[in-house]
Amino acid sequence: MALKFHNTLTRSLVPFTPLTAGKVHLYTCGPTVYNRVHIGNLRTFVWEDVLCRALRYLGFETVQVMNLTDIDDKTIRGAIQEGITLKEFTARHVETFFEDLATLNVSPAAHYPRATDHIPEMVEIVKKLTERGHTYESDGSIWFRIASFPSYGKLARVDLSSMQRGARVADDEYEKEDVRDFAVWKGWKEGEPESATWTTELGKGRPGWHLECSAMSMKYLGETLDIHTGAVDNIFPHHENEIAQSEGATGKEFVRYWLHAEHLIVDGEKMAKSKGNFFTVPDLLSRGHSPRAIRYLFLSVPYRQKLNFTFESLAAAASAVARLESLDLRLGERARSTGASAIEDGVEAKISSFQNEFREGLEDDLNTAAALGALFSFVREANADLESGQLSPAGAAAFQRALRGADSVLGVLPKAEAGLLDSEIQAKIDLRQAARKRRDFAAADAIRDELAALGITLEDTPAGVRWRRKS
Ligand SMILES: [Zn+2]
Repeated sequence: MALKFHNTLTRSLVPFTPLTAGKVHLYTCGPTVYNRVHIGNLRTFVWEDVLCRALRYLGFETVQVMNLTDIDDKTIRGAIQEGITLKEFTARHVETFFEDLATLNVSPAAHYPRATDHIPEMVEIVKKLTERGHTYESDGSIWFRIASFPSYGKLARVDLSSMQRGARVADDEYEKEDVRDFAVWKGWKEGEPESATWTTELGKGRPGWHLECSAMSMKYLGETLDIHTGAVDNIFPHHENEIAQSEGATGKEFVRYWLHAEHLIVDGEKMAKSKGNFFTVPDLLSRGHSPRAIRYLFLSVPYRQKLNFTFESLAAAASAVARLESLDLRLGERARSTGASAIEDGVEAKISSFQNEFREGLEDDLNTAAALGALFSFVREANADLESGQLSPAGAAAFQRALRGADSVLGVLPKAEAGLLDSEIQAKIDLRQAARKRRDFAAADAIRDELAALGITLEDTPAGVRWRRKS
């Protein structure tokens, strides 16, 4: 089987091939930095991380860009309320966002562009749209004229007929020709702070929210992206408007594969502060839950299904993580013990059948439930082999490599050993030398492999063993 994704654009499962062979350019809509993100937002961000990790596991290189929306109605309102500048206000929320990503072991994207650093790029897009007849000015703002873009609506397939075309309606304080038209540039309004206002060729004002993503995605990834993701509530109007702006400006296809994650609900209900079922990561940590269990729970449900968050499911996730961790520790111990130097019959076959099934799960539109099913069959087999007492150190090391390989996608095993102290590394090297002296090459090799898995390479020189950390 080859990699397939459910493309929102076609509402079908389609084979995936990137524009550039072996390299995937993807844009993942980031947070609006006006509050602490909640676990619903983080479900999407963890899924996007697993998507990137899975692509790398499957042999692709990835270039991920995630924007930070640091200028919009909400951030301006927050800055005004607190009597500080927009930048001061958003800086706090940027910080806690990155804190939450690190807590949940989300690998960093290649770029985290901020909207306020890309005003000139946005102005350029508006100018192109104007040249191509897609905009008009009204009341100091610049609007995208939906009627000028016939394929508008192709992503969302929403029923636009309920919105009456051509009716001149007031939206907020703005006048627009058509209720569906949206602002690409918002003219300055009385009361908007200096720190949230730019004076550009388009006049005094600020960019529309949708424009930010068109400008930043195309700047870092080119005019046609392989994958664009977000939560289902981004489909309309946000992503529909991104298509209109980007394709309207370039005349080229903007995104080849649109992927959208379903929502997280709590105890079967929509999360809301008023219902007392609204959680952030610090809320869960303060109740004693582990970040790795939270991450596991998020990724255990395939992204196109609603995730029902309950404390029972979080406890089940914690015990699943504990099983993986315990196997990893026991395999590590066995790998370091003395014994036969060759991997015994059957071990390789078990590993390759597991890896095939795990990969097929990922290739099936990132079916993480299927991939985890394969993983836990493998866990049962490896545990049975360990308990039989027959598993060789080399076999245990091979099992552990396979487990850690799968975890390069999941990211739920502890990274403690990656932080080995120099003295601990030296102690392991001494153990390896001792094993070599007694001609136990399997044990020596297992130690070398273990260090290699932690990014530490050994070099045997006439002056002894040298080691270095891979950067
Ligand atoms: Zn976006």
